[in-house]
Amino acid sequence: MRKTSPVNHALETADRRRFLKLAAVGAATAALATEVAGGQSRPLRRRARRVARQLGMKADRVENHLIRMQEDLRRALQKPVEQRDWVMVIDPRKCIGCDSCTISCKAENVTPPGMTYRRVPKIEFGAFPNITRIFMPANCMQCDHPPCAVAPGVPEGAITKRPDGIVEIDYTKLRGEAAQAAARACPYSALYVDDGSFYTENTPHGLQPYETRDFQEYDQEYNRSQGGLPVGSGRKCHFCLHRLNQAMLPACVTTCLGGAVFFGDRSDPQSLVSELLAGHRVIRTKESLGTEPRVYYIDEPIEGRPHLSCTVCHP
Ligand code: SF4
Ligand code: SF4
Ligand code: SF4
Repeated sequence: MRKTSPVNHALETADRRRFLKLAAVGAATAALATEVAGGQSRPLRRRARRVARQLGMKADRVENHLIRMQEDLRRALQKPVEQRDWVMVIDPRKCIGCDSCTISCKAENVTPPGMTYRRVPKIEFGAFPNITRIFMPANCMQCDHPPCAVAPGVPEGAITKRPDGIVEIDYTKLRGEAAQAAARACPYSALYVDDGSFYTENTPHGLQPYETRDFQEYDQEYNRSQGGLPVGSGRKCHFCLHRLNQAMLPACVTTCLGGAVFFGDRSDPQSLVSELLAGHRVIRTKESLGTEPRVYYIDEPIEGRPHLSCTVCHP
């Protein structure tokens, strides 16, 4: 017999009552996933379980990967920083190319036009009607041996490696020519120089508050509106360090519509990222350069489709 999802089954059998139950739990789960970003997972989880019980459904139906990662994050934050080992795992099979991660990252970090910490290259193969598209979300790989940090012209201490694995930029040191040199040295094209531009400058209503607001990076407060830092400095993804320190997952993780992005502590065997790394074939891009990136890609085929390894584009 053909397998069908619970939602389809409910629809196909016209079991409207069951479908409404599923919809209610789905809505509760979606709300939960959104609110998890605010660091309230435990009471919310209890509430979701209560909703599930009231609806006569098994509580594990409302579990999702965001809640799991939120708990992983809380556990990691109880350890000293040098015992945390942050990594990101991306499953390109689940990525739908929606660019939500790109937008949420821009909003979170107030980045100017032309600067995209998080890109989602879309690669098309084949000829009509047999076309396959793959999406390869990418950001700074937080390399363990970062070429950007040792590029000629980059001053000592401008780009440093934190004990938890994040590559940190000192905006007061990585400026002008030094920032350009670091950007050129990055083999992943992940580092940009803030040119001080705005999306809404010279528009009829002038600069909009979303571009002039205060924001945090590396736990420091910034505001670009008067040409202050980080204007003129080198900038890149930092795994949303300021959010991690407030027990919140990175913005691109919480807003991923495809559920394709995972984040956590690789040194914790209970974490979801450890489970994914142990249970799947994974690759890191441009490994041959010896950069030791901290972003992993699940490189497994989708049933019924030709497998296009990530290494096609990222040897
Ligand atoms: S990906 Fe580029 S910017 Fe990020 S640490 Fe590696 S070399 Fe530096
Ligand atoms: S981790 Fe944060 S800074 Fe990095 S790509 Fe995601 S949203 Fe942007
Ligand atoms: S939000 Fe998720 S699904 Fe959408 S493009 Fe980004 S990684 Fe892919």
